[in-house]
Amino acid sequence: MQITFHGAARTVTGSKHLITLNNGTKILLDCGMFQGMGSETLELNSHFGFNPAEVDYVILSHAHIDHVGLLPKLVIEGFRGKIFCTKATAALAELLLADSARIQENEAGYINKRRKRQGRPLVVPLYTEDDVDKAIVLMQRMPLEDWYQIDEHIKVMHTEAGHIIGSTCINLQITEEGITKNITFSGDVGRYDDAILDAPSVFPQADVILMESTYGNKIHNKTQPYLEHFLEMIVATCLVKKGKLIIPSFSVGRTQELLYALNTLSLQKRLPPVAYYVDSPLSVEATEMTKRFPELFNTSVQEVLKRDDDPFGFPGLNMIKDVNASKALNLHNDPCVIISSSGMAEAGRIKHHIANNIENSRNTIMIVGYCEPHSLGGRLKAGQKEVSIFSKVHEVNATVKVIESMSAHGDYNDLTQWLSCQNPDKVAQLFLVHGEYEVQQEFRERLLDKGFKSVNIPERHQSFDI
Ligand SMILES: [Zn+2]
Repeated sequence: MQITFHGAARTVTGSKHLITLNNGTKILLDCGMFQGMGSETLELNSHFGFNPAEVDYVILSHAHIDHVGLLPKLVIEGFRGKIFCTKATAALAELLLADSARIQENEAGYINKRRKRQGRPLVVPLYTEDDVDKAIVLMQRMPLEDWYQIDEHIKVMHTEAGHIIGSTCINLQITEEGITKNITFSGDVGRYDDAILDAPSVFPQADVILMESTYGNKIHNKTQPYLEHFLEMIVATCLVKKGKLIIPSFSVGRTQELLYALNTLSLQKRLPPVAYYVDSPLSVEATEMTKRFPELFNTSVQEVLKRDDDPFGFPGLNMIKDVNASKALNLHNDPCVIISSSGMAEAGRIKHHIANNIENSRNTIMIVGYCEPHSLGGRLKAGQKEVSIFSKVHEVNATVKVIESMSAHGDYNDLTQWLSCQNPDKVAQLFLVHGEYEVQQEFRERLLDKGFKSVNIPERHQSFDI
């Protein structure tokens, strides 16, 4: 059989890996969208590099858009097979894909207004909400940690990845001409000390491993527990300076982690008595959805659930979907905490909150996740003294603070712990995906030192016999 890497090859988005069996059966692992690659992005998302009509099965690791974001386009271009994933991934993918379709339709509408005036050809979104529905009906909700058979030659098992709710590593057992091979795709590997999710689980010995490498050369800074750090920032901003604490946050995962931290402080009676807002329709919906899968929470959340039926809700919390309620937040001057998306502050309501509050030194902007360097979050993180938001230049008088340890991706230690259940002598091929090339090269050296013999860093559309 053969594997071809159609995305997340020497970059961190667009996860798409196609396995072709000798009998012609094609299995696509993830169907992710490329994101944040500048003017190249649209072009990269317009061409798969293979014929979707020839794909028999799709298997999803988790619901992040860079892993599922092109499923509707796959269906538009002729895919009619089954999509296998966990129940939580199906639920979350439905939410995120609909959101992605709305963003694309809005952006196309905005661009086309100008193009119409200029008499230029109009742009079309990659897909619409109708196309999302056509992809969702193909989804098969499969168990976690249990093998299932998708045809007579192929068995699949999803194992916990600890990255976001429902996230998995994909283990395949493929038999060709009497020989069975085990192939494992890591998906995105989470942290072993995640606040909400179980740690990544042990997986069967593999012959071939496809492994993410986002933080293959980095150790997260964990010198101060983030709960204490977070509390310090609320006290310093809201109680001492009477200001607003503004937090750009990814709707899925990070927002629930922040809410869980605030809920913990509330249960401990240490939560400062100010107003707390989650201002984003998607964040509100993702939080509601997360609560529907309590069986996926780790043991410490299970303990909390025995005495608190809502680990993401507490007195003083306001969840805002309505746009007018969001605008009203700008008018009130009381100290408060506002959690809003997007995580890199490049889009969404968070941009308005930052624009409205960045010039006031009473306020704090707290960055809690990865930010692409050119994004607004990235520019703030880099310590810029002036930033342009909606074409207006703002002085950065607010305090900018960074909490590093909250990443949903494991660091170098987590990645090597994930691999520690494997005998390197038995892994014939290891492919590094989902990472920046320089990071991957460093990670490759470290893995060779650990005894893995064949560590490849595939390029986009590159094929290998496995
Ligand atoms: Zn992810």
